[in-house]
Amino acid sequence: MKLIVDQDLCISCGLCIETCPEVFDWNDDGKADVILDPVPEELEESAREAQDGCPTEAIQEP
Ligand code: SF4
Repeated sequence: MKLIVDQDLCISCGLCIETCPEVFDWNDDGKADVILDPVPEELEESAREAQDGCPTEAIQEP
C-alpha cells in the first residue's frame, strides 16, 4: 500500500503520528508526512486507522 499526505490539507493536528508513528512523522515544514514507502503489510491496518482518523482527509492513496 502506498499513502501520501496532501500538504495543503494537513493542519498539523498530529493524530496520524500519534496513531501510527511507524508510518507518519513530522517533516521540516511542520506537516505530517509518510516516512515508509510503501507501507509494509504489517502496518497497513494501523496506517488505515490513521487515514480514517485524519480530520481533513489529507492522507490519501495516490
Ligand atoms: S491526521 Fe491529517 S491533518 Fe492531522 S497531522 Fe495527520 S495528516 Fe495532518
